[in-house]
Amino acid sequence: MEQEKVEKLLRAKLKERGLKITQQRLLVLSTLAKSSGNHMAAEELYAQIQQQYPEIGLATVYRTLQLLYEMQLIDRINLDDGCVRYEIGHLFEGEMKHSHHHLICRKCGKVFPFDGDLLDGLETHIQEKTGFHIVDHELKFYGVCKQCMEQE
Ligand SMILES: [Zn+2]
Ligand SMILES: [Zn+2]
Ligand SMILES: [Zn+2]
Repeated sequence: MEQEKVEKLLRAKLKERGLKITQQRLLVLSTLAKSSGNHMAAEELYAQIQQQYPEIGLATVYRTLQLLYEMQLIDRINLDDGCVRYEIGHLFEGEMKHSHHHLICRKCGKVFPFDGDLLDGLETHIQEKTGFHIVDHELKFYGVCKQCMEQE
């Protein structure tokens, strides 16, 4: 994703809230945009951003992630081990809904995206059965990744 697009959308979203664009905000968002498909913990992001911008603190990264999440520019996955990872938001990529689900390896802890959402049929089914109007869903698969399986 181009840096320009990232900056433009960030600027517009911040303006809605009366906030200014800062180097830190832009760096956090563009780092996530660059590693689209990756799911990064705050500490990993921090380590990467520090290479370009050594003055940044971990607390700033946490605060910025919270803000970007509230602005719906990034998505967050909560793992059961308490480790939270972030990725560029689906809104950002022009999608109204998320584009993938998550496969989480119980051995190495890696998160793999699984492209394609096959749940539209299920949502329709639930809606017809219950009258419950579904707007979104969250789904995680737990298992052992291919690499870990091969190591066994
Ligand atoms: Zn694994
Ligand atoms: Zn993801
Ligand atoms: Zn889905």
